[in-house]
Amino acid sequence: MHHIEQVYINGEFVTPHGTERFDLYNPAKARVIGQVRLADAVDGERAIAAARAAFPAWSKATKQMRIAALQRMQATVAARHDDLLEAVVEEYGAPASRSAWMASYPAEVIAQAIAALEAFEFTTVAGAARVEMTPLGVAGLITPWNSDAGFICGKLAAALAAGCTAVIKPSEMSALQTQIVTEALHAADLPPGVFNIVTGRGDTVGETISRHPHVAKISFTGSTRTGKAILRNAAENFTRVTLELGGKSPTLILDDADIKQAIPLAVQAGLMNSGQACVAGTRILVPQSRKAEFEQALALAVAAVASGDPRDAKTVVGPMVSERQWQRVQGYIQKGLAEGARLLAGGVGRPEGTRDGWFVRPTLFTDVHNQMAIARDEIFGPVLCVIAYRDEAEAIAIANDTDYGLSALVLGGDSGRARRVAQQIQAGRVLVNTLTHEPKAPFGGFKHSGVGREMGTWGISAFMEPKSILS
Ligand code: NAD
Repeated sequence: MHHIEQVYINGEFVTPHGTERFDLYNPAKARVIGQVRLADAVDGERAIAAARAAFPAWSKATKQMRIAALQRMQATVAARHDDLLEAVVEEYGAPASRSAWMASYPAEVIAQAIAALEAFEFTTVAGAARVEMTPLGVAGLITPWNSDAGFICGKLAAALAAGCTAVIKPSEMSALQTQIVTEALHAADLPPGVFNIVTGRGDTVGETISRHPHVAKISFTGSTRTGKAILRNAAENFTRVTLELGGKSPTLILDDADIKQAIPLAVQAGLMNSGQACVAGTRILVPQSRKAEFEQALALAVAAVASGDPRDAKTVVGPMVSERQWQRVQGYIQKGLAEGARLLAGGVGRPEGTRDGWFVRPTLFTDVHNQMAIARDEIFGPVLCVIAYRDEAEAIAIANDTDYGLSALVLGGDSGRARRVAQQIQAGRVLVNTLTHEPKAPFGGFKHSGVGREMGTWGISAFMEPKSILS
């Protein structure tokens, strides 16, 4: 059993004021594997005060000092790769395809922030003005459970690069992963208070951070519902926000697509991170003229996806993170059936050969229309919809007929045409015939998928305010 009894404030592991114990689970076994003692509002206040006290010195640290600090963080986080790998399998249920990335990405994202900081222009000239980018102050960084260490390190590295200090409130469901990252970051030997990590509930610690007059910036990744609550709280103090929220991303297969190339990309985009991905391409748009052909190929591909034990090398889809998430996915599969969608693969219940864990069957529906709940709501599980379109204009209209706008994938034989289609899709990121990631490019959403951008220059600027000086 794991017992996590301390939070991290002002450069020290300390016993929190909060006394609530929260159970941690292994989702592949649906079994309790430990407990975390949660921070409360008092701990949130203490962490904010520590970050506030550390801000004047850190905001004046030179670029070279910040780069050196980030390099130490990169090294100490990389050194905990194997511990993180074990934790993401045990606590999150990530299968091999995902866990390898989840263990290496936290150090990589710090390296990406270092590269962005090296190139960052803190002072520019605009006409007669000298424009100085100045750090905002204390940053509140609130992260979800679906990529705990990656979000903590990515947000923290950008905030520190900008000269902000930070209070991090990770998900209470990822305390094992957070503990490893916190120990690693502590080993990087940054000045006390520059970053503080307080694992607690959203409605206590999260609310304290988002309402606090001494927090100048919130960077949040999580659900659209929580994002709205944070935006409302932030209005009171004009706290700046970056919100990375949910998605219901389209994968648009054009009528000239090569079926052999398109199907693996479409299935991978839809089922990545066991379906628990904000960017998952869960609406697969196919031309009516080739509907039967695509349905058949997609059904075969989804049915062949192994769902089960994350420690089995064959597994592609691991368990859902919690019983609540499992119930949510089951509920949506039932809803799809009730709405009249036709099942091509998967369905309710657990995959054959599994028991106990929160395993789900990778599921594919067809005869879905874009007004059905399974086409509109973010399910956050491996449930995909096939939606047929008549022509390119209708395909683009369906792709854009969503509250969200985080990501999209366009697959087509003529890449020039596919790019022209991509330009008409309202999403922060549109991939054309690829699933590659570009860390130098901004990442974030249109519409209800969020506010602002992370990564690269945009990610650092998000923690800063431009000041024009005229003399
Ligand atoms: P969530 O919104 O429930 O929780 C996210 C974080 O916010 C947690 O740390 C939680 O404790 C905290 N929180 C909850 N209520 C709060 C409040 N009132 N004030 C302040 N903080 C509060 O989301 P989740 O279930 O942990 O994560 C899944 C969601 O995250 C999905 O909707 C997914 O799409 C989204 N997500 C988005 C991205 C992106 O980059 N756009 C990436 C990953 C996940």
